[in-house]
Amino acid sequence: MTRAGAALLALASLVVPAGGAAALPAAPLAVVTTSRDLQALVEAVGGERVAVESLASPLQDPHAIEIKPAQLAQLKTAALLVRVGLDHEPWLRRALAALDGAPAPGGPRDLDLSRSVTLLQTETPRLRADAAPHVHGFGNPHYWLDPENARPMTAAIAAALTRLDPSARPRFEAQRRRFLERLDAGLLRWRAALASHRGARVVTMHDTWTYFAARYGLAIAATVEPAPGVPPSPAALGSLIERMRAAGVRVLVAEPYADPSLVHAIAARSGARAVALVPSVGGDPQAGDYLALFDLNVERLAAALDAAR
Ligand SMILES: [Zn+2]
Repeated sequence: MTRAGAALLALASLVVPAGGAAALPAAPLAVVTTSRDLQALVEAVGGERVAVESLASPLQDPHAIEIKPAQLAQLKTAALLVRVGLDHEPWLRRALAALDGAPAPGGPRDLDLSRSVTLLQTETPRLRADAAPHVHGFGNPHYWLDPENARPMTAAIAAALTRLDPSARPRFEAQRRRFLERLDAGLLRWRAALASHRGARVVTMHDTWTYFAARYGLAIAATVEPAPGVPPSPAALGSLIERMRAAGVRVLVAEPYADPSLVHAIAARSGARAVALVPSVGGDPQAGDYLALFDLNVERLAAALDAAR
């Protein structure tokens, strides 16, 4: 449901006299998510009972978002804020700190989904002299890219929505079950499509695909960024390209917002094939929801690995 529709419903429920409200559905819960991926999962569980807005656009670097004034107003009045957590959204902390009445971190209107999954790369040193704001300092935050993680994430979402609207619990549970059935079918599809590529070595621009690679047995031989958010020096780039050639790495994975001239230069000099994988729902017209995101990425990656053989 759109926000305008939600506002109309809210208005309607105000003018219906007591006792007559039963015929009208209650106003949907206003939920704000930090990404389209989380929005897709909240909508899968919440259905018509939620009106969800995402703060980040899927084609932006998710770690460097400028929140617009209208979004600040949505944050302030949200029944629930759903976020990736860790140090994924440094811009959110700043926005919340400056906003009276916004969901307080750790409070009843805040859902940090990083608490629902098993994190990878938690050994990263937390403090660095050259620290960019998003350094994966508490573990790798790109955990929604392991589709198995949708199971615990939607469980946490269902629990949070149920706390806000206990009477809708059966509906949330049924909608989550239907989503998980579709997810399970997807998991079989994706596993089959990548089965012959187990052990394949790829290089990635940012450490975005750690969870995805772990799920499908891919080896990330190197990451172009020496640390998250830090571009490589010319010397580091030269040595990376030498290592890619020596190790026979044939595929370079890039995000849609990666520096295209850098991607092109690495591909040209190493002989690797560059493939654009989409890290967020909506980042490509074919990645319209959470399951379509994996259908698209698995298809693109399998095609690139096949062509590189
Ligand atoms: Zn990152």
